[in-house]
Amino acid sequence: MIVILDSSITEQSEAYRQTLDCLSQLPDVVAHVHNIQGAQQSLTEIYLIGDTRKLSAEEIEVLPGVERVIRVSEEYRILGRHRDGQRTSGFEYNGVLFSQDNLNIFAGLCAVDTPEHVEQMLKALRDHGQVCTRMGAYKPRTSPYAFQGHGKACLPYVFELAGKYGIKVVAMEVTHESHVEEIHECLEQTGQPTGVMVQIGTRNTQNFELLKAVGRQQEFPVLLKRGFGITLNESLNAAEYLASEGNSRVVFCLRGVKTNMGDPHRNLVDFSHTPVLKRLTRMPVCVDPSHSVGTRDRSPDGILDLMHAAAQGVISGANMVLIDFHPEPAKALVDGPQAMLLSELGWFLEDVALARDCYEKRQALADRQRG
Ligand code: PEP
Ligand code: MN
Repeated sequence: MIVILDSSITEQSEAYRQTLDCLSQLPDVVAHVHNIQGAQQSLTEIYLIGDTRKLSAEEIEVLPGVERVIRVSEEYRILGRHRDGQRTSGFEYNGVLFSQDNLNIFAGLCAVDTPEHVEQMLKALRDHGQVCTRMGAYKPRTSPYAFQGHGKACLPYVFELAGKYGIKVVAMEVTHESHVEEIHECLEQTGQPTGVMVQIGTRNTQNFELLKAVGRQQEFPVLLKRGFGITLNESLNAAEYLASEGNSRVVFCLRGVKTNMGDPHRNLVDFSHTPVLKRLTRMPVCVDPSHSVGTRDRSPDGILDLMHAAAQGVISGANMVLIDFHPEPAKALVDGPQAMLLSELGWFLEDVALARDCYEKRQALADRQRG
């Protein structure tokens, strides 16, 4: 059961103290307080964990400062929707809004290789009015002999260059909790020139200790990839690990699932799950065409499969696109064959904007149908 307090109630208020006292005395139930920094306002939600079947929502609703009480299903307790359309979705981070209602593009390098390539990428993004990017420093690789990313060594120039080109959020995968600490320290040493959205990759979707560690920190929001060989439900429970530890600023990313039924694509594109995720949870939904499609092939219409896949996600309401670009794909140390070229950035952004416009028109059409 979730008890949502009125947004005017602060932890110092008498109403808060009385209500929390009362909830803390309920038998067989533990009350956990979560402060939610939503896109529009901050809210206090009190989670009643334990045997809540006997509790009367009506009796709790009349406690001082209580706005609403929601009975939650067992699954996705924190991030789920629970048939309650009014709960806030989304958050703001470093001046950028992430919600189920808007769209952010994260184009960038799969793996950081040289400062020159990072700078060329970031300059192109700035020239196209972009404020977000992806930059891989810690790369989980199938082979232990493959390039594993420059790690901590590249963080200072990545963050300084991001600041120089007005980038506000860098999506960056971490594979160990010490990487979060390294990112935190480097941002501090370089004077916070940018922000970081910590990414948990598909190989780590069920690395529960990593999820718990990343969930315990509140500094960085999290981009969680769907696990490539597990059910959607299992991946959503992984997201819930982050939230249950205190970090509910989570964006969920579809990136295709592993099966040779997806051939000749690298994975089977699963972007039709975008509306499903928005129905089941309050998380903004990201699509990653690069790691699902995995090639630069194009159809006779001249459009790259990567762009078709991105458009499929966006036209069904995706809120973020994560995509690999590289100034010189032939020299990329990771995933060069699927990288888009800097000369294609303007085209890609315009194509995505068309798909978004179409989604908004489809939404207006559905609203008219509902009356
Ligand atoms: C990535 O985004 O660089 C990546 C490795 O993706 P995934 O975890 O989806 O394979
Ligand atoms: Mn990659």
